[in-house]
Amino acid sequence: MFSPLTMKRIVILGAGESGVGAAILAQQKGFEVFVSDFSDIKPLYKALLQQHHIPFEEKQHTLPLILSAQEVIKSPGIPENADIILRLREQHTPVISEIEFAARYTKAKMICITGSNGKTTTTSLIFDILRRAGLNVGLAGNIGNSLALQVAQQERDYYVIELSSFQLDDMYDFRADIAILLNITPDHLDRYNYEFQNYVDAKLRITRNQQSTEAFIYWSEDPVISREIEKLHPRATLYPFGLSHGHNMAYTSADTLTIHIPSHEPLSVPIPELSLKGQHNRLNSMAAGLAAQLLNIRNSVIREALTTFEGVPHRLQYVATVRDIRFINDSKATNVNSCWYALESMTTPTVLILGGKDKGNDYTEIDQLVKEKCRALVFMGLHNEKLEQHFASFNLPTVSTDNIHDAVLAAYQAALPGDTVLLSPCCASFDLFRSYEHRGEMFVKEVQSL
Ligand code: ADP
Repeated sequence: MFSPLTMKRIVILGAGESGVGAAILAQQKGFEVFVSDFSDIKPLYKALLQQHHIPFEEKQHTLPLILSAQEVIKSPGIPENADIILRLREQHTPVISEIEFAARYTKAKMICITGSNGKTTTTSLIFDILRRAGLNVGLAGNIGNSLALQVAQQERDYYVIELSSFQLDDMYDFRADIAILLNITPDHLDRYNYEFQNYVDAKLRITRNQQSTEAFIYWSEDPVISREIEKLHPRATLYPFGLSHGHNMAYTSADTLTIHIPSHEPLSVPIPELSLKGQHNRLNSMAAGLAAQLLNIRNSVIREALTTFEGVPHRLQYVATVRDIRFINDSKATNVNSCWYALESMTTPTVLILGGKDKGNDYTEIDQLVKEKCRALVFMGLHNEKLEQHFASFNLPTVSTDNIHDAVLAAYQAALPGDTVLLSPCCASFDLFRSYEHRGEMFVKEVQSL
Protein backbone atom coordinates (compact mmCIF):
# COMPACT_ATOMS: atom_id res chain seq x y z
CA MET A 1 0.00 0.00 0.00
CA PHE A 2 1.21 3.51 -0.83
CA SER A 3 2.48 5.63 2.03
CA PRO A 4 3.76 9.20 1.55
CA LEU A 5 6.20 8.67 4.42
CA THR A 6 8.18 6.04 2.56
CA MET A 7 7.94 7.78 -0.79
CA LYS A 8 10.90 9.96 -1.61
CA ARG A 9 11.40 10.49 -5.31
CA ILE A 10 8.61 10.94 -7.85
CA VAL A 11 9.39 11.26 -11.53
CA ILE A 12 6.88 12.75 -13.91
CA LEU A 13 7.01 11.77 -17.56
CA GLY A 14 5.51 14.35 -19.89
CA ALA A 15 5.35 18.05 -19.03
CA GLY A 16 1.91 18.95 -20.35
CA GLU A 17 -1.12 20.07 -18.35
CA SER A 18 -1.37 16.90 -16.28
CA GLY A 19 2.39 16.43 -15.77
CA VAL A 20 3.08 19.95 -14.60
CA GLY A 21 0.03 19.88 -12.31
CA ALA A 22 1.23 16.60 -10.83
CA ALA A 23 4.73 18.03 -10.33
CA ILE A 24 3.40 21.05 -8.45
CA LEU A 25 1.18 18.91 -6.22
CA ALA A 26 3.95 16.36 -5.57
CA GLN A 27 6.35 19.10 -4.58
CA GLN A 28 3.75 20.64 -2.31
CA LYS A 29 3.32 17.25 -0.61
CA GLY A 30 7.03 17.06 0.15
CA PHE A 31 8.32 14.68 -2.52
CA GLU A 32 11.56 15.05 -4.41
CA VAL A 33 10.30 15.74 -7.92
CA PHE A 34 11.86 15.46 -11.36
CA VAL A 35 10.08 16.06 -14.67
CA SER A 36 11.27 14.56 -17.95
CA ASP A 37 9.80 15.15 -21.41
CA PHE A 38 11.09 13.52 -24.58
CA SER A 39 9.81 16.47 -26.66
CA ASP A 40 9.94 20.24 -26.32
CA ILE A 41 8.13 21.58 -23.28
CA LYS A 42 5.68 24.40 -24.07
CA PRO A 43 6.92 27.80 -22.79
CA LEU A 44 3.89 28.16 -20.49
CA TYR A 45 4.67 24.88 -18.71
CA LYS A 46 8.40 25.54 -18.61
CA ALA A 47 7.71 28.85 -16.91
CA LEU A 48 5.48 27.14 -14.34
CA LEU A 49 8.15 24.55 -13.53
CA GLN A 50 10.80 27.25 -13.19
CA GLN A 51 8.54 29.36 -11.02
CA HIS A 52 8.13 26.40 -8.64
CA HIS A 53 11.86 25.52 -8.81
CA ILE A 54 11.05 22.04 -10.07
CA PRO A 55 13.98 20.40 -11.92
CA PHE A 56 13.18 19.17 -15.42
CA GLU A 57 14.65 18.06 -18.72
CA GLU A 58 13.31 18.21 -22.27
CA LYS A 59 14.05 16.47 -25.59
CA GLN A 60 15.54 13.55 -23.68
CA HIS A 61 15.02 10.95 -20.97
CA THR A 62 18.10 10.58 -18.76
CA LEU A 63 17.76 7.00 -17.58
CA PRO A 64 19.46 7.14 -14.16
CA LEU A 65 17.37 10.17 -13.21
CA ILE A 66 14.18 8.34 -14.12
CA LEU A 67 14.89 4.77 -13.09
CA SER A 68 15.73 5.96 -9.57
CA ALA A 69 12.09 6.95 -8.98
CA GLN A 70 10.00 5.18 -6.35
CA GLU A 71 6.92 6.04 -8.35
CA VAL A 72 6.32 7.48 -11.80
CA ILE A 73 3.41 9.61 -12.96
CA LYS A 74 3.00 9.27 -16.70
CA SER A 75 1.22 11.49 -19.18
CA PRO A 76 -1.67 9.66 -20.87
CA GLY A 77 -0.03 10.45 -24.23
CA ILE A 78 2.94 8.13 -23.61
CA PRO A 79 2.23 4.65 -24.99
CA GLU A 80 2.83 1.51 -22.97
CA ASN A 81 5.47 0.33 -25.46
CA ALA A 82 7.67 3.45 -25.15
CA ASP A 83 11.21 2.38 -24.23
CA ILE A 84 11.19 4.26 -20.97
CA ILE A 85 7.95 2.61 -19.82
CA LEU A 86 9.27 -0.84 -20.73
CA ARG A 87 12.36 -0.15 -18.63
CA LEU A 88 10.26 0.96 -15.67
CA ARG A 89 7.97 -2.06 -15.95
CA GLU A 90 11.01 -4.35 -16.09
CA GLN A 91 12.18 -3.09 -12.69
CA HIS A 92 8.58 -3.03 -11.31
CA THR A 93 8.44 0.69 -10.65
CA PRO A 94 4.79 1.70 -10.09
CA VAL A 95 3.50 3.87 -12.94
CA ILE A 96 0.30 5.80 -12.28
CA SER A 97 -1.78 8.55 -13.86
CA GLU A 98 -2.01 12.10 -12.63
CA ILE A 99 -5.66 11.53 -11.63
CA GLU A 100 -4.70 8.56 -9.46
CA PHE A 101 -2.04 10.67 -7.75
CA ALA A 102 -4.19 13.77 -7.25
CA ALA A 103 -7.13 11.78 -5.88
CA ARG A 104 -4.99 10.74 -2.90
CA TYR A 105 -5.06 14.31 -1.67
CA THR A 106 -8.71 15.32 -1.94
CA LYS A 107 -11.91 14.30 -0.22
CA ALA A 108 -14.07 15.88 -2.92
CA LYS A 109 -16.81 13.82 -4.55
CA MET A 110 -15.65 12.52 -7.94
CA ILE A 111 -18.03 12.35 -10.88
CA CYS A 112 -16.12 10.57 -13.65
CA ILE A 113 -17.12 10.23 -17.27
CA THR A 114 -15.71 7.87 -19.86
CA GLY A 115 -16.80 6.34 -23.16
CA SER A 116 -15.59 6.30 -26.73
CA ASN A 117 -17.64 9.37 -27.63
CA GLY A 118 -19.48 12.10 -25.81
CA LYS A 119 -17.11 12.47 -22.86
CA THR A 120 -16.37 16.16 -23.25
CA THR A 121 -19.97 17.06 -24.04
CA THR A 122 -21.35 15.14 -21.05
CA THR A 123 -18.61 16.27 -18.68
CA SER A 124 -19.20 19.92 -19.64
CA LEU A 125 -22.95 19.52 -19.27
CA ILE A 126 -22.66 18.00 -15.78
CA PHE A 127 -20.23 20.72 -14.75
CA ASP A 128 -22.70 23.29 -16.02
CA ILE A 129 -25.56 21.77 -13.99
CA LEU A 130 -23.49 21.63 -10.80
CA ARG A 131 -22.35 25.21 -11.24
CA ARG A 132 -25.89 26.40 -11.82
CA ALA A 133 -26.85 24.58 -8.60
CA GLY A 134 -24.25 26.71 -6.80
CA LEU A 135 -21.92 23.84 -5.85
CA ASN A 136 -18.18 24.36 -5.36
CA VAL A 137 -17.14 22.30 -8.38
CA GLY A 138 -14.04 21.87 -10.54
CA LEU A 139 -13.74 20.53 -14.10
CA ALA A 140 -10.79 18.23 -14.73
CA GLY A 141 -9.32 15.34 -16.68
CA ASN A 142 -8.97 16.00 -20.38
CA ILE A 143 -10.57 19.42 -20.01
CA GLY A 144 -9.35 22.59 -18.34
CA ASN A 145 -6.77 22.60 -15.59
CA SER A 146 -5.41 19.30 -14.36
CA LEU A 147 -6.99 17.73 -11.29
CA ALA A 148 -3.59 17.81 -9.57
CA LEU A 149 -3.17 21.55 -10.03
CA GLN A 150 -6.65 22.22 -8.71
CA VAL A 151 -6.10 19.99 -5.71
CA ALA A 152 -2.83 21.85 -5.05
CA GLN A 153 -4.33 25.29 -5.39
CA GLN A 154 -7.99 25.33 -4.39
CA GLU A 155 -10.01 22.65 -2.68
CA ARG A 156 -13.36 21.79 -4.18
CA ASP A 157 -16.35 19.80 -2.93
CA TYR A 158 -16.93 18.15 -6.32
CA TYR A 159 -14.88 17.38 -9.38
CA VAL A 160 -16.36 16.44 -12.73
CA ILE A 161 -13.63 14.49 -14.50
CA GLU A 162 -13.36 13.36 -18.10
CA LEU A 163 -11.37 10.14 -18.22
CA SER A 164 -9.80 8.62 -21.31
CA SER A 165 -8.95 4.94 -21.53
CA PHE A 166 -5.28 5.95 -21.26
CA GLN A 167 -5.86 7.61 -17.90
CA LEU A 168 -7.90 4.64 -16.70
CA ASP A 169 -5.07 2.30 -17.68
CA ASP A 170 -2.90 3.78 -14.96
CA MET A 171 -5.50 3.99 -12.19
CA TYR A 172 -5.50 1.45 -9.37
CA ASP A 173 -6.89 2.66 -6.02
CA PHE A 174 -8.99 5.49 -7.39
CA ARG A 175 -12.71 5.27 -6.65
CA ALA A 176 -15.38 7.25 -8.49
CA ASP A 177 -18.40 8.32 -6.44
CA ILE A 178 -20.38 8.47 -9.65
CA ALA A 179 -18.97 6.67 -12.70
CA ILE A 180 -20.49 7.16 -16.13
CA LEU A 181 -19.82 4.92 -19.12
CA LEU A 182 -21.44 6.39 -22.23
CA ASN A 183 -20.63 3.84 -24.94
CA ILE A 184 -17.81 1.63 -26.20
CA THR A 185 -16.88 1.43 -29.87
CA PRO A 186 -13.48 0.73 -31.42
CA ASP A 187 -10.99 3.57 -30.95
CA HIS A 188 -7.27 3.93 -30.24
CA LEU A 189 -6.73 0.33 -31.28
CA ASP A 190 -3.15 1.24 -32.22
CA ARG A 191 -2.52 1.69 -28.47
CA TYR A 192 -4.17 -1.62 -27.51
CA ASN A 193 -2.33 -4.14 -29.71
CA TYR A 194 -5.25 -3.90 -32.14
CA GLU A 195 -7.29 -5.94 -29.61
CA PHE A 196 -10.71 -4.37 -28.98
CA GLN A 197 -11.11 -6.27 -25.71
CA ASN A 198 -8.04 -4.57 -24.25
CA TYR A 199 -9.65 -1.21 -24.90
CA VAL A 200 -12.98 -2.44 -23.45
CA ASP A 201 -11.19 -3.61 -20.30
CA ALA A 202 -9.61 -0.18 -19.91
CA LYS A 203 -13.00 1.52 -20.10
CA LEU A 204 -14.55 -0.81 -17.51
CA ARG A 205 -11.83 0.17 -15.06
CA ILE A 206 -14.00 3.18 -14.26
CA THR A 207 -16.05 0.88 -11.98
CA ARG A 208 -12.95 -0.41 -10.21
CA ASN A 209 -13.11 -0.18 -6.40
CA GLN A 210 -16.72 1.02 -6.42
CA GLN A 211 -19.05 -0.37 -3.74
CA SER A 212 -22.85 -0.31 -3.44
CA THR A 213 -22.65 3.18 -1.94
CA GLU A 214 -21.28 4.42 -5.27
CA ALA A 215 -23.19 4.82 -8.53
CA PHE A 216 -22.53 3.44 -11.99
CA ILE A 217 -24.49 5.15 -14.77
CA TYR A 218 -24.29 3.44 -18.16
CA TRP A 219 -25.96 3.13 -21.55
CA SER A 220 -27.84 -0.16 -21.24
CA GLU A 221 -28.46 -0.51 -25.00
CA ASP A 222 -24.78 -0.62 -25.85
CA PRO A 223 -24.12 -4.29 -26.62
CA VAL A 224 -20.52 -4.17 -25.42
CA ILE A 225 -21.39 -2.52 -22.11
CA SER A 226 -24.30 -4.88 -21.38
CA ARG A 227 -22.13 -7.90 -22.15
CA GLU A 228 -19.39 -6.64 -19.83
CA ILE A 229 -21.83 -5.92 -17.00
CA GLU A 230 -23.17 -9.48 -17.17
CA LYS A 231 -19.60 -10.68 -16.98
CA LEU A 232 -18.23 -8.38 -14.29
CA HIS A 233 -21.23 -7.71 -12.02
CA PRO A 234 -19.99 -4.31 -10.83
CA ARG A 235 -20.56 -3.78 -7.12
CA ALA A 236 -21.79 -0.21 -7.54
CA THR A 237 -25.50 0.58 -7.59
CA LEU A 238 -26.54 0.55 -11.25
CA TYR A 239 -28.32 3.41 -13.02
CA PRO A 240 -28.97 2.37 -16.64
CA PHE A 241 -30.22 4.76 -19.30
CA GLY A 242 -31.39 4.19 -22.87
CA LEU A 243 -33.66 5.32 -25.66
CA SER A 244 -36.39 2.84 -24.71
CA HIS A 245 -38.03 2.57 -21.28
CA GLY A 246 -37.49 -1.02 -20.02
CA HIS A 247 -35.53 -0.95 -16.75
CA ASN A 248 -33.88 2.34 -17.61
CA MET A 249 -33.91 5.19 -15.13
CA ALA A 250 -33.60 7.70 -17.95
CA TYR A 251 -35.35 7.07 -21.25
CA THR A 252 -37.31 8.58 -24.11
CA SER A 253 -40.95 7.93 -24.96
CA ALA A 254 -42.77 9.71 -27.78
CA ASP A 255 -41.39 13.23 -27.70
CA THR A 256 -40.23 13.30 -24.09
CA LEU A 257 -37.04 12.55 -22.26
CA THR A 258 -37.55 11.37 -18.68
CA ILE A 259 -35.05 11.12 -15.86
CA HIS A 260 -36.22 9.25 -12.81
CA ILE A 261 -34.12 7.73 -10.10
CA PRO A 262 -36.01 6.18 -7.20
CA SER A 263 -36.38 8.64 -4.30
CA HIS A 264 -36.38 11.62 -6.68
CA GLU A 265 -39.28 13.34 -8.45
CA PRO A 266 -39.27 12.34 -12.13
CA LEU A 267 -38.18 15.02 -14.56
CA SER A 268 -39.66 15.12 -18.07
CA VAL A 269 -38.36 17.44 -20.78
CA PRO A 270 -39.85 17.69 -24.29
CA ILE A 271 -37.16 16.51 -26.71
CA PRO A 272 -37.48 19.54 -29.03
CA GLU A 273 -36.57 21.74 -26.04
CA LEU A 274 -33.26 19.98 -25.34
CA SER A 275 -30.45 22.32 -26.34
CA LEU A 276 -28.13 19.51 -27.54
CA LYS A 277 -29.53 17.97 -30.70
CA GLY A 278 -29.34 14.45 -32.12
CA GLN A 279 -29.88 10.98 -30.73
CA HIS A 280 -26.40 10.80 -29.24
CA ASN A 281 -26.97 14.01 -27.32
CA ARG A 282 -30.21 12.66 -25.88
CA LEU A 283 -28.12 9.90 -24.36
CA ASN A 284 -25.57 12.41 -23.10
CA SER A 285 -28.37 14.49 -21.57
CA MET A 286 -29.78 11.39 -19.82
CA ALA A 287 -26.42 10.51 -18.30
CA ALA A 288 -25.95 14.07 -17.09
CA GLY A 289 -29.48 14.27 -15.71
CA LEU A 290 -29.07 11.03 -13.76
CA ALA A 291 -25.82 12.22 -12.21
CA ALA A 292 -27.46 15.49 -11.23
CA GLN A 293 -30.45 13.78 -9.63
CA LEU A 294 -28.10 11.50 -7.70
CA LEU A 295 -26.49 14.64 -6.31
CA ASN A 296 -29.94 15.86 -5.25
CA ILE A 297 -29.96 18.80 -7.58
CA ARG A 298 -33.39 20.30 -8.05
CA ASN A 299 -35.25 19.30 -11.22
CA SER A 300 -35.80 22.96 -12.12
CA VAL A 301 -32.03 23.49 -12.26
CA ILE A 302 -31.48 20.33 -14.30
CA ARG A 303 -34.22 21.29 -16.72
CA GLU A 304 -32.81 24.76 -17.20
CA ALA A 305 -29.34 23.37 -17.96
CA LEU A 306 -30.62 20.70 -20.36
CA THR A 307 -32.59 23.25 -22.32
CA THR A 308 -30.06 26.11 -22.44
CA PHE A 309 -26.57 24.52 -22.32
CA GLU A 310 -24.64 25.86 -25.29
CA GLY A 311 -22.48 22.85 -26.09
CA VAL A 312 -18.76 22.73 -26.77
CA PRO A 313 -16.94 23.88 -29.93
CA HIS A 314 -15.86 21.46 -32.69
CA ARG A 315 -18.73 19.05 -31.95
CA LEU A 316 -21.39 19.40 -34.64
CA GLN A 317 -20.81 23.14 -34.45
CA TYR A 318 -22.67 25.28 -36.95
CA VAL A 319 -20.18 27.54 -38.78
CA ALA A 320 -21.97 29.48 -41.51
CA THR A 321 -24.30 29.25 -44.49
CA VAL A 322 -22.75 30.26 -47.81
CA ARG A 323 -25.06 30.42 -50.85
CA ASP A 324 -27.57 28.27 -49.01
CA ILE A 325 -24.96 25.60 -48.14
CA ARG A 326 -24.60 24.96 -44.41
CA PHE A 327 -21.13 24.22 -43.04
CA ILE A 328 -20.78 22.12 -39.88
CA ASN A 329 -17.55 21.67 -37.95
CA ASP A 330 -17.37 18.26 -36.25
CA SER A 331 -13.57 18.17 -36.16
CA LYS A 332 -13.70 16.33 -32.83
CA ALA A 333 -15.11 13.28 -34.64
CA THR A 334 -11.78 11.47 -34.44
CA ASN A 335 -13.25 7.97 -34.81
CA VAL A 336 -15.76 6.27 -37.07
CA ASN A 337 -18.56 6.00 -34.51
CA SER A 338 -18.72 9.73 -33.84
CA CYS A 339 -18.94 10.35 -37.59
CA TRP A 340 -21.82 7.85 -37.66
CA TYR A 341 -23.75 9.98 -35.17
CA ALA A 342 -22.93 13.15 -37.06
CA LEU A 343 -24.23 11.66 -40.33
CA GLU A 344 -27.24 10.25 -38.52
CA SER A 345 -28.23 13.73 -37.41
CA MET A 346 -27.94 15.26 -40.92
CA THR A 347 -31.28 16.33 -42.36
CA THR A 348 -30.10 17.38 -45.87
CA PRO A 349 -27.88 15.82 -48.56
CA THR A 350 -24.34 16.04 -47.23
CA VAL A 351 -20.86 16.48 -48.59
CA LEU A 352 -18.65 14.75 -46.06
CA ILE A 353 -15.02 15.75 -45.52
CA LEU A 354 -13.15 12.91 -43.83
CA GLY A 355 -9.64 11.55 -43.43
CA GLY A 356 -6.50 12.22 -41.44
CA LYS A 357 -4.40 9.95 -39.30
CA ASP A 358 -6.10 6.54 -39.43
CA LYS A 359 -6.11 4.64 -36.11
CA GLY A 360 -6.91 1.23 -37.54
CA ASN A 361 -10.40 2.36 -38.63
CA ASP A 362 -13.09 0.15 -40.08
CA TYR A 363 -15.23 2.42 -42.25
CA THR A 364 -17.96 -0.16 -42.91
CA GLU A 365 -19.80 1.25 -39.87
CA ILE A 366 -20.73 4.38 -41.86
CA ASP A 367 -21.36 2.65 -45.22
CA GLN A 368 -25.12 2.72 -44.94
CA LEU A 369 -25.35 6.34 -43.84
CA VAL A 370 -22.89 7.43 -46.53
CA LYS A 371 -25.11 5.73 -49.11
CA GLU A 372 -28.26 7.32 -47.67
CA LYS A 373 -27.04 10.84 -46.99
CA CYS A 374 -23.90 11.76 -48.89
CA ARG A 375 -23.83 13.62 -52.16
CA ALA A 376 -20.03 13.48 -52.38
CA LEU A 377 -16.97 12.64 -50.30
CA VAL A 378 -13.85 14.74 -49.89
CA PHE A 379 -10.82 12.96 -48.47
CA MET A 380 -8.34 15.11 -46.59
CA GLY A 381 -5.12 13.56 -45.40
CA LEU A 382 -1.55 12.68 -46.19
CA HIS A 383 -2.61 9.09 -46.96
CA ASN A 384 -6.02 8.80 -48.56
CA GLU A 385 -5.48 5.41 -50.21
CA LYS A 386 -7.48 3.41 -47.63
CA LEU A 387 -10.45 5.76 -47.97
CA GLU A 388 -10.22 5.78 -51.75
CA GLN A 389 -10.27 1.99 -51.81
CA HIS A 390 -13.05 1.61 -49.28
CA PHE A 391 -15.47 3.99 -50.97
CA ALA A 392 -14.46 3.20 -54.58
CA SER A 393 -17.55 1.11 -55.26
CA PHE A 394 -20.06 3.61 -53.85
CA ASN A 395 -20.80 5.41 -57.10
CA LEU A 396 -20.27 8.76 -55.39
CA PRO A 397 -18.14 11.67 -56.57
CA THR A 398 -14.93 11.70 -54.47
CA VAL A 399 -12.08 14.19 -54.34
CA SER A 400 -8.72 13.51 -52.73
CA THR A 401 -6.99 16.48 -51.06
CA ASP A 402 -4.05 16.98 -48.74
CA ASN A 403 -4.90 20.36 -47.21
CA ILE A 404 -7.89 22.14 -45.69
CA HIS A 405 -8.07 24.88 -48.32
CA ASP A 406 -8.52 22.43 -51.19
CA ALA A 407 -10.85 20.25 -49.12
CA VAL A 408 -13.26 23.09 -48.29
CA LEU A 409 -13.20 24.35 -51.88
CA ALA A 410 -13.86 20.88 -53.28
CA ALA A 411 -16.74 20.33 -50.84
CA TYR A 412 -18.22 23.72 -51.67
CA GLN A 413 -18.06 22.93 -55.38
CA ALA A 414 -19.64 19.51 -54.91
CA ALA A 415 -22.53 20.79 -52.76
CA LEU A 416 -25.85 22.08 -54.11
CA PRO A 417 -27.99 24.80 -52.48
CA GLY A 418 -29.78 23.31 -49.48
CA ASP A 419 -26.97 20.82 -48.80
CA THR A 420 -24.69 20.57 -45.77
CA VAL A 421 -20.92 20.35 -45.85
CA LEU A 422 -19.85 18.32 -42.83
CA LEU A 423 -16.29 18.05 -41.56
CA SER A 424 -16.44 14.83 -39.51
CA PRO A 425 -13.11 13.19 -40.20
CA CYS A 426 -13.24 9.74 -38.45
CA CYS A 427 -9.50 10.22 -37.91
CA ALA A 428 -6.97 11.96 -35.71
CA SER A 429 -5.66 15.26 -37.02
CA PHE A 430 -1.93 14.96 -36.52
CA ASP A 431 -0.94 14.31 -40.14
CA LEU A 432 -1.87 17.85 -41.21
CA PHE A 433 -2.71 19.75 -38.01
CA ARG A 434 -1.48 20.32 -34.47
CA SER A 435 -4.76 19.09 -32.94
CA TYR A 436 -8.44 18.62 -33.68
CA GLU A 437 -9.01 22.17 -32.42
CA HIS A 438 -6.47 23.47 -34.95
CA ARG A 439 -8.20 21.47 -37.70
CA GLY A 440 -11.60 22.88 -36.69
CA GLU A 441 -10.30 26.46 -36.50
CA MET A 442 -8.70 26.18 -39.95
CA PHE A 443 -11.96 24.79 -41.31
CA VAL A 444 -13.90 27.74 -39.88
CA LYS A 445 -11.34 30.15 -41.38
CA GLU A 446 -11.55 28.56 -44.82
CA VAL A 447 -15.36 28.59 -44.75
CA GLN A 448 -15.37 32.23 -43.74
CA SER A 449 -13.15 33.15 -46.67
CA LEU A 450 -15.30 31.40 -49.30
P1 ADP B 1 -15.16 12.73 -26.52
O1 ADP B 1 -14.72 13.71 -25.48
O2 ADP B 1 -15.52 11.40 -25.96
O3 ADP B 1 -14.26 12.65 -27.71
P2 ADP B 1 -17.06 14.71 -27.48
O4 ADP B 1 -18.16 15.16 -26.59
O5 ADP B 1 -15.89 15.59 -27.63
O6 ADP B 1 -16.59 13.26 -27.05
O7 ADP B 1 -17.67 14.39 -28.92
C1 ADP B 1 -16.82 13.79 -29.89
C2 ADP B 1 -17.59 13.45 -31.13
O8 ADP B 1 -18.52 12.42 -30.86
C3 ADP B 1 -18.37 14.61 -31.73
O9 ADP B 1 -18.25 14.45 -33.11
C4 ADP B 1 -19.78 14.36 -31.23
O10 ADP B 1 -20.73 14.88 -32.13
C5 ADP B 1 -19.85 12.83 -31.14
N1 ADP B 1 -20.66 12.38 -29.98
C6 ADP B 1 -21.00 13.07 -28.87
N2 ADP B 1 -21.69 12.29 -28.00
C7 ADP B 1 -21.77 11.07 -28.55
C8 ADP B 1 -22.37 9.83 -28.16
N3 ADP B 1 -23.02 9.68 -26.99
N4 ADP B 1 -22.25 8.78 -29.01
C9 ADP B 1 -21.61 8.89 -30.18
N5 ADP B 1 -21.05 10.04 -30.63
C10 ADP B 1 -21.12 11.12 -29.83
